[in-house]
Amino acid sequence: MMADDSIRVPDARRKRIKRLKGYIVLTLLLFLLIPTALCLVLLIRVNRLGSALDGVKTDAAALEQLVREQDKALEKLAAEIEALTARTAELTAETQTLRAQTIQQENAESSGEPEVSGTEAVTVAHRVYLTFDDGPSAYTEEILDILDEYGVKATFFVVGKESDTAREAMREIVSRGHTLGMHSYSHKYSELYASQESFQEDFERIREYLYEVTGVWSTLYRFPGGSSNTVSEVDMKELAAYLDAQEVRFFDWNVSSGDGGRKLLSVDELTENVTENIGSHEVSVVLMHDSQDKPTTVEALRGIIEDILALDDTAILPITEETEPVQHIHYGSS
Ligand code: ZN
Repeated sequence: MMADDSIRVPDARRKRIKRLKGYIVLTLLLFLLIPTALCLVLLIRVNRLGSALDGVKTDAAALEQLVREQDKALEKLAAEIEALTARTAELTAETQTLRAQTIQQENAESSGEPEVSGTEAVTVAHRVYLTFDDGPSAYTEEILDILDEYGVKATFFVVGKESDTAREAMREIVSRGHTLGMHSYSHKYSELYASQESFQEDFERIREYLYEVTGVWSTLYRFPGGSSNTVSEVDMKELAAYLDAQEVRFFDWNVSSGDGGRKLLSVDELTENVTENIGSHEVSVVLMHDSQDKPTTVEALRGIIEDILALDDTAILPITEETEPVQHIHYGSS
């Protein structure tokens, strides 16, 4: 009995130990397997993320490329718009020139052959003489260009300005076919109209000055303030008679643009002042000013010319020897 027991006990212990060993091995195995499995899973995920990142990088590069292409396209568009704008401006200028040429042609057709001294537009019902006083000024060149645009000739009653640009402008007036008239040398009423002598002195001075500068011996005069001015100390009829004796004719005006006043008139006001009565006159001598402080006169000029030329049976002409004068005062025996 004792012997049996002693054999059985170790047997049971061995079994228990074996079982324990089994547990330990299993536990160890589990400890090894779980991290390995986890590692594997992580590895796979890292790998996947890596390829996803590659994809994102490729997308980013493609986007960058796209942005660059669009930038280029935008630049190209901007250049095209700029070119189009320039072309539009060019076309507008061409249209304007064509319009001016058409008006010029129509004007030439309606007034017959180009005017020659002595055969002055006798066939036209309304003759309009644009006159510019007080120049030359910084605006003369622009005024001359506008007149050229419409093939229209005008008359400039200038004063004794002595700068190089003023002299050049006087020569331009003549060389571009306009009429050069005198408007006194000083344009100072108090000196000019102080006595017959001071008027004569000033008259001779402007006449000789214009001859010296342009070679033109002018036969046309416009009194500063007009022949009907009320500031002269001398009877204006005497001064008119004096001019007659010098074989000089004076011209007043019967249409005033109104630009001689202190208030600067608008383009619309000037245009209306000039054009409203032309239709009722056979001869319209239009008073305007070519001076530094009259910018709206220059701005209005194109519209004024176009409006006049659009009138029936009407021509714009320069004053010549044959033009019948418009005068505010009557003098002499007649
Ligand atoms: Zn004046």
